[in-house]
Amino acid sequence: MKKMIDLRSDTVTMPTDEMRQAMASAPVGDDGYGDDPTVKKLEEKAADIVGKEDALFVPSGIFGNQLAILTHTNRGDEIIVEANSHIVMHEVGAAAVIAGVQLRNIEGRNGRMSIKDVERAIREENIHFPRTGLICIENAHSCGTVIGLDNMSEISEIAKKNNIPVHLDGARVFNAAKALNVDVKEITKYADSVMFCLSKGLCAPVGSILAGSKEFIEKARKNRKLMGGGLRQAGIIAAAGIVALDTMIDRLEEDHKNAKYLAEKLSEIDKIEVRFDKNDINMVFFKISDDIIEEKNFINKLLEKNIKINGKENGEYRFVTNNDVSRDDIDYVVQQIKNILD
Ligand SMILES: *Cc1c(COP(=O)(O)O)cnc(C)c1O
Repeated sequence: MKKMIDLRSDTVTMPTDEMRQAMASAPVGDDGYGDDPTVKKLEEKAADIVGKEDALFVPSGIFGNQLAILTHTNRGDEIIVEANSHIVMHEVGAAAVIAGVQLRNIEGRNGRMSIKDVERAIREENIHFPRTGLICIENAHSCGTVIGLDNMSEISEIAKKNNIPVHLDGARVFNAAKALNVDVKEITKYADSVMFCLSKGLCAPVGSILAGSKEFIEKARKNRKLMGGGLRQAGIIAAAGIVALDTMIDRLEEDHKNAKYLAEKLSEIDKIEVRFDKNDINMVFFKISDDIIEEKNFINKLLEKNIKINGKENGEYRFVTNNDVSRDDIDYVVQQIKNILD
């Protein structure tokens, strides 16, 4: 039987054989007592790679973002976020529930907030106003774009001037670094804290990292406990994270090349409108009007050909390339779409 080609996300990636072997043989201990050498090794390595003093292993990306928000802010604060960011759109409203903060949405251009808008959104001292407790930037943005270093640097400067910390939702920060062709530290240096996912393009089965200053991570470690995210012999999964950092960062470039190739090929089909303005990383966004093929029909027809995709969001399909999708797979997908649309 032909294998399933899964384009729904890079979260569907399977752990590599090397990860499974590392997991099987990892030395572990109770991380609640600080006894797990593998977790420690991962946290040290992660902090080093993103240029922060310390890091914390957390169960998921959402956990890391929400832990950062809880740790940076006080209840009733307002935090500045991009209107289509993951924190606003895809985190179940957690910031209101866990940290008890209000989200001040700034409509960006493909995820990029204008400096003027950020500056205007910062609250002055006034008896009616909440305090601005945090500014969040998402890079790479989940709409498929990369935010330039100029923008990050300017936001960071405004934040410093106003004594407001910056959190980077860097779920795909290594994709951003590859796309910008810079060391990841060139991106993370503009943020006080950064979250990144081990379990997306990097292919680890579980886990994310929250990194920041020693003081911040110490506070976050306690808050992680409060949130129920203190783990025990977590070295079993941290071991895969170490392999992810050692072996999977450089190959993200392949996903990007495949996404560009897929975008080109799809754009040659005249019923498809590809969003080349959102093709910076491993994602391809495109439109096919419902008059040409109805969404459910398109999904089911592809599934019959062993291709898994998600439904549209905001009227657009999103295909995500990843370690388990080869160039040949992409050629096969494009051929099947041609057949379906003819
Ligand atoms: C995936 C993602 C997250 C959340 O990660 P989970 O591990 O799914 O909780 C947060 N931010 C962005 C930008 C993401 O793409």
